[in-house]
Amino acid sequence: MKLSWRVVLLWALPILVVGFFFLQGAFSTNAADAGRNAANTRMTYGRFLTYLDAGRVTAVDLYDGGRTAIVEAVDPQIDNRLQRWRVDLPGNTPELITRLKSSNVSLDSHPPRSDGALWGILGNLLFPFLLIGGLFFLFRRSSNVPGGPGQAMSFGKSKARFMMEANTGVVFDDVAGIEEAKEELQEVVTFLKKPEQFTAVGARIPKGALLVGPPGTGKTLLAKAIAGEAGVPFFSISGSEFVEMFVGVGASRVRDLFKKAKESAPCIIFIDEIDAVGRQRGAGIGGGNDEREQTLNQLLTEMDGFEGNSGIIIIAATNRADVLDQALLRPGRFDRQIMVDPPDAKGRLEILKVHARNKKLDEAVELEAIARRTPGFTGADLANLLNEAAILTARRRKEGITMAEVDDAVDRVVAGMEGTPLVDSKSKRLIAYHEIGHAIVGTLIKAHDPVQKVTLIPRGQAQGLTWFTPSEEQSLISRAQILARITGALGGRAAEDIIFGDAEVTTGAGNDLQQVTGMARQMVTQFGMSDLGPLSLEGSQGEVFLGRDWLNRSEYSESIASRIDGQVHLIVDRCYAEAKQIMVENRVVIDRLVDLLIEKETIDGDEFREIVAEYTTVPDKELLVPQL
Ligand code: ADP
Ligand code: MG
Ligand code: ZN
Repeated sequence: MKLSWRVVLLWALPILVVGFFFLQGAFSTNAADAGRNAANTRMTYGRFLTYLDAGRVTAVDLYDGGRTAIVEAVDPQIDNRLQRWRVDLPGNTPELITRLKSSNVSLDSHPPRSDGALWGILGNLLFPFLLIGGLFFLFRRSSNVPGGPGQAMSFGKSKARFMMEANTGVVFDDVAGIEEAKEELQEVVTFLKKPEQFTAVGARIPKGALLVGPPGTGKTLLAKAIAGEAGVPFFSISGSEFVEMFVGVGASRVRDLFKKAKESAPCIIFIDEIDAVGRQRGAGIGGGNDEREQTLNQLLTEMDGFEGNSGIIIIAATNRADVLDQALLRPGRFDRQIMVDPPDAKGRLEILKVHARNKKLDEAVELEAIARRTPGFTGADLANLLNEAAILTARRRKEGITMAEVDDAVDRVVAGMEGTPLVDSKSKRLIAYHEIGHAIVGTLIKAHDPVQKVTLIPRGQAQGLTWFTPSEEQSLISRAQILARITGALGGRAAEDIIFGDAEVTTGAGNDLQQVTGMARQMVTQFGMSDLGPLSLEGSQGEVFLGRDWLNRSEYSESIASRIDGQVHLIVDRCYAEAKQIMVENRVVIDRLVDLLIEKETIDGDEFREIVAEYTTVPDKELLVPQL
């Protein structure tokens, strides 16, 4: 703990005050009680009354509001000398006073001691004083722990919670698969390195760039690479750190950040998750959030406040550009928006090469094959994938990563940890039929993605799994493809139904049915792929604002609603009928495949197709497999 002056003062003050009164109290006690303390011998009240009756008492001094008396009397036991006694009186006794008066005794009364009262007042003051002091001390102490509850007390000062890296050590070569974004940002590096080139011809250097893309696509990495390439410091803060419990903290953090950045310009300021502060103001149910709006306003002010040529470039990242406030996006602020999309097969290959650099790979490992197997994987997923493979390799005590580890790692990243296979039982047979049902439909319908493998080894929640090799072009999906997927997803239940009968179907198809219903509904309400015609009846789900889209969502009548339900039923019913038909027509090969699956636990896609081809014609799907 740091002993600051404030703490020293805090503790010194009460001690001084207490000390002062204590000393004063001690002195005053001595002065006022000189008489009282002189009488050390006590006398009982009864004896005092006897002495009084005998006329021996000459003087009485009353103290403590009449509770104590110092009595001067003639002591018959010691030669009738004048002697002083202390007598405790039974409270306020007016009769005694009258009696003393009548017996001609010199009577005096002393007021209650003032220092006693002072002690009382002091005691009253001291306790809260110490309490507050102590609490303050505790808060100060805990505020030295980052993020501790003591933050509550230091809100006025606002500790800037940004990070500063003098040199990120990341270069553009470490970022792969997002070539367009890299090219656009190459320019930013030139702005930072040679601003004269631009200012000489009167160009205004952009202040900010906004990186938009899903998580894990390399936005943070790109921003660091810019700083690394330009050799400038990298300031970073997350949008969520601006938004705090106390109003005004966010705004003061923005101020702090820009102040520090100006001191070390040229530099990069990176604001991650800017949507946490930069959402449209006043949007959503219940209006805006004052604190966020203040922070956003401060950010806008700061961005307007510095000259375009001051050498600071702000890079912000978000995965939702559509929710950002328009004011952030206008020229002079984040005037460049750069899309950072998940990589395609070629991009994935490049990213795998980057991350394979520091790993020991067996010669037989084909990065192309991995890239082809992993559509939809982001850069972060791929980095994680190779790392998982390396971990598996180490655990298996191998020299280098082989294709087996990579395949296992893919399965693990996609479907979760491997479980122990079931022992042969009725439920194992049922699961086998269910999976073969998926696989056979997927194989026999032309528009379906080809089967990659079928397995009875449980993973994550699933007891068995059928893997398909997805086609590369995921963004445009045809009606035939969606119908094929629905039929394929119903294949599991269809097999259970045909082979074991209506009464034996299981809950294992629950997940499949959920997907089926979702796809069928989307066909009707979003993609215009039903008899209702090309209408968009519902927006896409998962909006960030509760409210914005709820308020102006397209409404449809009750009759349309029931027609939607009717169409969804129709689609699912037709697909289910087709799936059951495939089961009935291919019963012989299905039985053979199930036996093989129970024996081997995993059937590879090629082997699967070969066996099916012995019984029926398998449509050619080569065109759907991505080419590099
Ligand atoms: P984001 O900020 O977009 O969520 P990050 O930049 O934090 O993603 O990426 C996390 C990690 O994933 C990086 O540190 C890097 O190892 C890896 N990564 C992501 N994208 C790429 C890429 N395009 N090239 C190389 N590695 C990448
Ligand atoms: Mg990031
Ligand atoms: Zn299934």
